[in-house]
Amino acid sequence: MAVKKSRFKPVSSQVNFPFLEEDILKFWQKEKIFEKSLENRKSSKKFTFYDGPPFATGLPHYGHILAMTIKDAITRLKTMQGFYVPRRLGWDTHGLPVEYEVEKEIGSSGKKDIEKMGIDKFNEACRNIVFRYTNEWEKTIDRMGRWADKENTYATLDTDYMESIWWVFKSLWDKNLIYKGFRSMAYCPRCATPLSNFETNLGYKDNIEDPSVYIKFQSADDPKTFFLAWTTTPWTLPGNAALAVSPKVNYVKVKVGYEFFILAKSRLEVLDAYEEIGKVGIGDLVNKKYHSLFDYFEKDQKSGKKGNYLLNKDDIAKKAYRILSADFVSTEDGTGIVHIAPAFGEDDMALGEKENLPLIQPVDENGELTIDPYIGKFVKDADAIIIEHLDQKNNLFKAETIKHTYPFCWRCETPLLYYAIGNWFAKVSSFRKELVANNEKIHWTPNHLKIGRFGNWLKEARDWSISRNRYWGAPLPVWKCASCEEYTVIGSVTDLKEKAINFDELEKLSKPLFESAKQKSTSFKVDLHRPYIDLVKIRCDKCGKEANRIEEVLDCWFESGSMPYAQDHYPFEDKEGWENNFPADFIAEGLDQTRGWFYTLHVLATFLFDKPAFKNIIVNGIVVDREGKKLSKRLRNYPEPEEVFEKFGADAMRLYLLASPAAVAEDVRFSAEAVEELVRKFFLILWNTYSFFVTYANLEDWNHPQKLTEPKSAHVLDKWILSKLNSLITEVQKGVETYNLPKMTRPLQFFLNDLSTWYVRRSRDRLGPTAENQKDKEACLSTLHFVLTSFCKLLAPFAPFVSDEIYKNLTGDLSVHLADWPKADMKNIEKDLESEMQRAREIVEKAHALRKKENIKVRQPLSKLEYGGEALSKDLSIIVADEVNVKDVLPKKGVDILLDTKISPVLKEEGEARELIRQIQIARKEAHLSPRDKIIVTLTNWPKSQEDQIKKSTLAREIKKGEVLQIEKFN
Ligand SMILES: [Zn+2]
Ligand SMILES: [Zn+2]
Repeated sequence: MAVKKSRFKPVSSQVNFPFLEEDILKFWQKEKIFEKSLENRKSSKKFTFYDGPPFATGLPHYGHILAMTIKDAITRLKTMQGFYVPRRLGWDTHGLPVEYEVEKEIGSSGKKDIEKMGIDKFNEACRNIVFRYTNEWEKTIDRMGRWADKENTYATLDTDYMESIWWVFKSLWDKNLIYKGFRSMAYCPRCATPLSNFETNLGYKDNIEDPSVYIKFQSADDPKTFFLAWTTTPWTLPGNAALAVSPKVNYVKVKVGYEFFILAKSRLEVLDAYEEIGKVGIGDLVNKKYHSLFDYFEKDQKSGKKGNYLLNKDDIAKKAYRILSADFVSTEDGTGIVHIAPAFGEDDMALGEKENLPLIQPVDENGELTIDPYIGKFVKDADAIIIEHLDQKNNLFKAETIKHTYPFCWRCETPLLYYAIGNWFAKVSSFRKELVANNEKIHWTPNHLKIGRFGNWLKEARDWSISRNRYWGAPLPVWKCASCEEYTVIGSVTDLKEKAINFDELEKLSKPLFESAKQKSTSFKVDLHRPYIDLVKIRCDKCGKEANRIEEVLDCWFESGSMPYAQDHYPFEDKEGWENNFPADFIAEGLDQTRGWFYTLHVLATFLFDKPAFKNIIVNGIVVDREGKKLSKRLRNYPEPEEVFEKFGADAMRLYLLASPAAVAEDVRFSAEAVEELVRKFFLILWNTYSFFVTYANLEDWNHPQKLTEPKSAHVLDKWILSKLNSLITEVQKGVETYNLPKMTRPLQFFLNDLSTWYVRRSRDRLGPTAENQKDKEACLSTLHFVLTSFCKLLAPFAPFVSDEIYKNLTGDLSVHLADWPKADMKNIEKDLESEMQRAREIVEKAHALRKKENIKVRQPLSKLEYGGEALSKDLSIIVADEVNVKDVLPKKGVDILLDTKISPVLKEEGEARELIRQIQIARKEAHLSPRDKIIVTLTNWPKSQEDQIKKSTLAREIKKGEVLQIEKFN
């Protein structure tokens, strides 16, 4: 017997999505579908996307997968919408995160160890780990279905990239936006480098236990009177230079035992028992002297030594240890008298400058004290000893502990210190107005971040500390003249070559790196990293004498913020082309980047071009566990992403994440069960609908038209589903316009539900064995085909695998990802029909509920259903009658719903016949018969009045009487 070839590849209702995805991946690779999707749009308008470069020193986690899914969905979608969307991957390779990894590996405890090892060896070790996990990243990127250019990647360590960074730095320098200052900053004593304010913000921890100490500063006028001050950092006390009081606070003198204390009246609660003596006016306090807590300074003075802790003045005795007036003193906590250590706090330093206080810095760059008897003690370890000494000298009132929020290093988790240090700054504070104005031009998803978290941060923007006293990073292109001390700033390698005295030495040292392909560049083959660059001497711009490079390297956030320019080697290559495509149309990263990458991109673009760096941004939230807790490697409170891919597929994971609140910057409680549910409630339903279509289309030998156009059908179900489809396209488009992924993806889920539980369900009879109207069969198949192919296009950016599998089979086209995004045909949206159908479905739902209540099976026909409200059209009445299995559906005044439950003998026989038909259908399925195979059926008993109906509905040529229900194929 000749087997007729099917129009469509037959589809099994059994499907394994992860296996299917693996096949699709191979297909994409073999047919170069990504490359083709780019090639197709090469001459179209460009849609610029910036990818925030990750560090490949660590493995990708859920946060990355979430952001990468968003990036992939939008870039695929824009490609389908007709744009040319290059997607270049890049790697962050510099800075503290990398250095810290190497330090852990070599067991380094700080800069001393690194310098002993040699900067060249250390940087070589850094270079060797920065691409450590790129293979794992690429594997994840592939498996999740993300399309990105993995050949043409950039890395922040490439010479081209670094040259552009120099250009950025020099441009800022020329605009007078960079200065060197001595400021109190958050400082990591382990990394021995200051951190910027937004880096500090990354590392706040709650519930940190610290000392809470009340100190008695003895008055110089009266040995029995003490000024009471409070601190949580006893290690800063050796740096004390003054006490501060506020003119807005009322102070009192009290008696405790034999001693007198002065403190704010509103803070008397810190004392247990006291006798109030009287008010102390601010005039009686300001400029009063007190005795220093420590005697290291007096000792040094007596021995004629000048301590290295003294940074600005040597007349400590005259200027220090007095009471000053300051606005920042509050009475929220403490005593209303504030201990001032100018080398440690920002307010302290400002007050010190104003009042000419000595800058006492008794802590070195490793966070160790430098004064006797605490030499070599790490500050936090010195706390307890200092407290003990103060107690012995009668300077301690009480010592307790508190729990508060405290910043830690975002890389190495060491508690940060506030520490005065020389540093290079970008004058962000002078650009607040421009930063805010440019933020107005950005579309944020979600919108509240624009004025809230981001906007408020811009309004308060502070100068940005851009230098790090470290090794592995883009060096600041600054040389300092050995004779006139002038700074010369270099903006390109050409510039360096012209000014350098020994450029050839740099070329020679760089050669092996380029030969081994460890360093890449399109122009000069020189490596700009330390320590080689430190050897290059240049001629001073001012006096022409020799200048040496300063030590500092750039903050790695300066480097990633320079990504728009540096990834394209701007302005050294294709300047004009680049300028036509700036700013980016779109970026997407996590909420934690609001004060990180988003901020540095914005600051640098505003500085350089007075423009925002990006026009649209999607900020994603955080993936937490099912209880709302942070995902923890240690607690293993989440399934590995690979497991989820292998079990449920990447499509399910993607759609789950994209439809979740995480796509609009909120937390999402991740559970594998929720992904599994999506497989059942969405992907399997889609698959069954598709399988249903293919089965009947092949039976009818139906083929789709050459060109896919919206079919015209007179059937109300077809009109309805086409109207719903066009409404869906309109709704998804609204989500597209606002970059709101839940608004793009959730309507797809509702639509599929309508399609399967209503359209397909109500259309089964139109295609089934009793269907005789050939024209209607074709209308039904054309409609379902059109709806499914359109649906696959709408689904493609979000669930790229299954949509491609279905689309390819339904159309014979190469890939859905080469198709155009569907446009809504507004003519075919019939809102009245949609709402009338909605009403019909509500009536059906109520009728089914009534049957259930009366315990009457749906298969038992009933005579009449009456419903309240306006009359349904004839077409819809028929649909309702079929679904509810009643002879008549009638409007009736004054009722909500009324079902006639009387079962006449005729109805009873019809019900029995329906039951038999159902059992025969099951038997057909079990015998694996095709829906068009004819049979001979054996039954024990059947209502004779229904014989024709049973035969017709089951394609039975004959009914025989027998012991049990049996079927055989009729040949
Ligand atoms: Zn650190
Ligand atoms: Zn000079």
